[in-house]
Amino acid sequence: MKILNFGSLNIDHVYQVPHFVQPGETLSAGELTFCAGGKGLNQSVAAARAGARVIHAGAIGPEGGFLCDLLREAGADVSHLLRLDAPTGHAIIQVAPDGQNAILVYGGANRRLSAEYIDRMLALGEPGDLALVQNETNAVGDIIRRAAARGLRVVFNPSPFPTDPAALPLERVSLFMVNALEAAQLAARSPEAEPSAILDALQARFPQAAIVMTLGSRGAIWAQGKDRFFQPAFPVQAVDTTGAGDTFCGYFLAGLCRDLPVPECLKTACAASAIAVSRPGAAPAIPQAAEVAAFLAAAEAPVVSRVNPER
Ligand code: ADP
Repeated sequence: MKILNFGSLNIDHVYQVPHFVQPGETLSAGELTFCAGGKGLNQSVAAARAGARVIHAGAIGPEGGFLCDLLREAGADVSHLLRLDAPTGHAIIQVAPDGQNAILVYGGANRRLSAEYIDRMLALGEPGDLALVQNETNAVGDIIRRAAARGLRVVFNPSPFPTDPAALPLERVSLFMVNALEAAQLAARSPEAEPSAILDALQARFPQAAIVMTLGSRGAIWAQGKDRFFQPAFPVQAVDTTGAGDTFCGYFLAGLCRDLPVPECLKTACAASAIAVSRPGAAPAIPQAAEVAAFLAAAEAPVVSRVNPER
């Protein structure tokens, strides 16, 4: 079983600024660093480092070569990546002295996936393979519809949250990967509501789907039908939580590809994302499978529990 990831690839331009630039102001930035970004890229890196077979479907422009190299080095198949004469997707990130950021994103090549390309990529899938999509490319609805029609299992990470989720064929999704806020938005519930109530609402609305809801430093819950499992987070000193959900997603799906039981997938994904948050950066912070195994061997694993066994 493999993962076909229809995912964004971004170049993050990170500027240190004394304050966020104001309307009409010209501000001189301090340091500039370029980082690989994009939820799609991060999730492919995580799944590939976890040992899964990952084909990345996406597009870059002329200056995006290093993103392709990074994915390849992580072990993802980049042989079908589109190279377009359009700017690579990028984010302009201002970081203020207090650590707050302000981000401007330009989708660029990420938003130029054609119907022909999507079909060509889907033809590489076999029934049962996972088709993973986030909300940073164009044609998300088409990808979901066409992937499901081919018998692929559609995994949807609605991030950033769609402005009009009702326009998407969400009834074709097999697995939703959502953080607490996305789960609340998808369920049209308050983010203050109990995770169990949000999951109840999501399951009532999408009875066909499994749901993984990540809860930041609290851990993660998996729900399908009457089954729920809760995995508490591993206690670590968090230094940078960027990419935590992407690391979790890649590792969780890699576990599914190996047919591991769900509690095992949850445990590995929580361990991998705990390691990731204990380091700076996004893609560079995503651990290798051997590091996760060593972490798990050394950690006092918080125990996975079955939630609501009477349901
Ligand atoms: P996202 O990055 O999409 O907002 P979350 O914040 O829910 O996602 O984090 C995803 C996973 O990363 C969590 O389920 C948890 O396992 C792990 N994680 C996040 N923050 C921490 C933390 N402070 N300590 C340990 N693990 C964490």
